[in-house]
Amino acid sequence: MVLKKAPISPNSRSRLPVWLKTSLPSGEAFFHLRSLVRKYQLHTVCESASCPNIGECWGKGTLTLMILGDHCSRACRFCDVPTGQMLPPDDNEPRQVAEMLSRLSLNYVVITSVDRDDLPDGGARHWAKVLQQIHELCPALGVEVLVPDFKAEVSLIETVCAAQPAVFAHNIETVESLQKRVRPQCRYDWSLKTLTVAARQFGIITKSSMMLGHGETRQEVIQTMTDLRQAGCRMLSIGQYLQPTRTHLEVMEYVHPDVFAEYKQIGEDLGFDHVESGPLVRSSFRADQQANAAGIV
Ligand code: SF4
Repeated sequence: MVLKKAPISPNSRSRLPVWLKTSLPSGEAFFHLRSLVRKYQLHTVCESASCPNIGECWGKGTLTLMILGDHCSRACRFCDVPTGQMLPPDDNEPRQVAEMLSRLSLNYVVITSVDRDDLPDGGARHWAKVLQQIHELCPALGVEVLVPDFKAEVSLIETVCAAQPAVFAHNIETVESLQKRVRPQCRYDWSLKTLTVAARQFGIITKSSMMLGHGETRQEVIQTMTDLRQAGCRMLSIGQYLQPTRTHLEVMEYVHPDVFAEYKQIGEDLGFDHVESGPLVRSSFRADQQANAAGIV
């Protein structure tokens, strides 16, 4: 169901459909988490990408740390993470991440990073060091890595997979025809190959995510799901794109929750172990429950 066909302006909470309204962050758990993030000098995608779920997630004591800096080497037109000003990887970060996570009562966590096309290994070795430190300090913690495409370079994907994440996630973000518009420096075939290599060559459970509302058609959404299944992808999340600022891509459509429910059913019929689909769903939203529903943890 298409509610609006004209682009929709950002930051106009009153104009959002009721199913996209969220409460503002507050509460003891939220402030505790924020103080830990600051103490360990880490970054979170929750803050950097202005995620609408921060109130709920942080209120429940869960978050998604973002490693390798807070500036990205790519400039996707949907994303609020700033581009450029890349610094060398921080050698202290792997330990800081593990120490902070050891202070939380989590059994599952998602870690993501910015893209680091400026580094010869795309940041893969830093990823491995982070995983190694977490396994050392928090041996019972399941870690889902939400990684860049590494330009589908097999040796880099292997470096991350060898460090034993519970789930290897990489987001295809949108349908093939909209890739250039939505994320000009990325490629649909790189994303599919990266997921295929992790799943088929290195035997890791893989997951991907799509945002709706960029003007994609139903047939294209189903084709993307089919392509992901062919890449061996076992988990999928689907959510609504929201424009972070006026300089980002405009929202073309607010997709009705019933349509998200339909895509969930279609995805599960296509063979995904689990599809999380709803307006406020993000790749890392209730990721522990998604992994649980897929029978992974
Ligand atoms: S959905 Fe993910 S990015 Fe958003 S607040 Fe929750 S953990 Fe952070």
